[in-house]
Amino acid sequence: MKATAFTVEKIPLIKPGDNIGQLISERTELKDHDIVIISSTVVSKSENNIRSIRDLPITEKAKNIALRNNIEPEFAQAVLNEGIEVLLESPFLLVRLKNGSICVNAGIDHSNVEGSDNILLLPEDADESARKIKDSLFELTGKKVSVIITDTNGRAFRIGQTGAAVGIAGIIAMRDWRGTRDLFGRVLEVKNEGVVDELAGFANLLMGEGDGGTPVVVIRGLEMYHESYGIRELLRPENEDVIRKALRSLSA
Ligand code: GDP
Ligand code: MN
Ligand code: MN
Repeated sequence: MKATAFTVEKIPLIKPGDNIGQLISERTELKDHDIVIISSTVVSKSENNIRSIRDLPITEKAKNIALRNNIEPEFAQAVLNEGIEVLLESPFLLVRLKNGSICVNAGIDHSNVEGSDNILLLPEDADESARKIKDSLFELTGKKVSVIITDTNGRAFRIGQTGAAVGIAGIIAMRDWRGTRDLFGRVLEVKNEGVVDELAGFANLLMGEGDGGTPVVVIRGLEMYHESYGIRELLRPENEDVIRKALRSLSA
């Protein structure tokens, strides 16, 4: 196997209304079935998901959580506003978002956002965002590419943050090995290799977390193109999610 990966250079600071597809297509030559991986930060900026935390009315709940977690009450409030369910209040806020994904601080960022009072929310529907960028890249280049939108996430059970996929278009979500054989002829039962998170992790390594200014990575040479999947495929069904159940019973 051989794949190549590179950052797309000279992407400007993204502003609301910017056309991400166009900015990418002007800076690199895409090929069919390239995997274009974009940090959620720039997608959110283009979609104007920037909020000032100074205008927010603060509830008692947010004040309490802020005290316990040693964070700003405004930030706690912003996280509570985004979550439709709080799974953990302290020592950090863990919430479920409207789109079903569960993340620390609702995926809200302070870093790489202009203005000290401004925060950046995740794209409201990152699958939809990925789909739009994929379609715009097709219009501009005639190439059928896959798009993965990423965010840097912490992990349960392990120290060390990695890139994770938050929205996808034009790519398989998982790879199913069932029915194939191992080196010794045994039939495999591995059903769900989470390929989009594997790709997001590597792309995140090239993007970096700081002032690199490299929010877009292209991975070339892998055959993962598929029209119809979304990030929902990766969300563990509630009735199978023992961790979620355990967290609920903690707070009950
Ligand atoms: P997140 O992982 O999606 O939350 O994004 P990060 O804040 O970790 O940023 C990922 C990469 O994108 C880093 O290389 C940042 O320097 C870069 N980045 C963030 N915002 C912008 C922007 O508006 N323009 C450019 N060119 N790069 C950005
Ligand atoms: Mn982030
Ligand atoms: Mn990051």
